[in-house]
Amino acid sequence: MERVRLRGGIFHPFLDRYVATNGKRWEIWGGAMPIAPEFPKGISAPAFLAASQSDEFDPITGAQTWMVLWARKLLGVDPYAAETVLRDLLNELSATGIFEVRHSDKGPVWGLPQSRIEFVHVEPHDGVYPPTELRCTLCATAITHPPERFADWIGRPCMRLRCTGTFAAAPSKPTNYYRRLYSSGQIRRVVAAEHTGLLTQKEREHVEHGFKRAGLKLGMDR
Ligand SMILES: [Zn+2]
Repeated sequence: MERVRLRGGIFHPFLDRYVATNGKRWEIWGGAMPIAPEFPKGISAPAFLAASQSDEFDPITGAQTWMVLWARKLLGVDPYAAETVLRDLLNELSATGIFEVRHSDKGPVWGLPQSRIEFVHVEPHDGVYPPTELRCTLCATAITHPPERFADWIGRPCMRLRCTGTFAAAPSKPTNYYRRLYSSGQIRRVVAAEHTGLLTQKEREHVEHGFKRAGLKLGMDR
């Protein structure tokens, strides 16, 4: 679920045709709806979970796919069992409304319903912000979670497949540039994209650099 969230696998009308074609990039690029953001090649595209192979989605089949390797890493099952387990789990989660299942021309596609996305405003207590950032103890991969969920993530396995580390609270920083920036109300659409990991590293660096130089017109802001 966290991987789908981070990769932007959230159902939205802009993505309906993209989902229906099992992740055909044209539907969110040249063939995108006129007011929808475009995802040309080189930019990470929203990734849903798919029952079959797909250019952009995360398939739950195939011995070398992230989903199957993740199930093997955590459960120690073989690839065939992993596929069965993943499918059963996704069907169960869809039946309870945690995931939503749709049907593409190549089979089922699972993603997060919009109604399950929550934006959390983090408030300071006595002038101190509660911790929201966790880092892997081995590779330092960082993830962010709201205070109510923070403790749930401590000790969980790192999401990098070959890393055996676990998440721990990141060392606290005296100030948080981004929190101040977001709180100031000068948020543009590109911030949401940056959070969902939809930008390439080069673009992200460009955007972050742009934010730090206040007033710069950003190329992505359209
Ligand atoms: Zn790690």
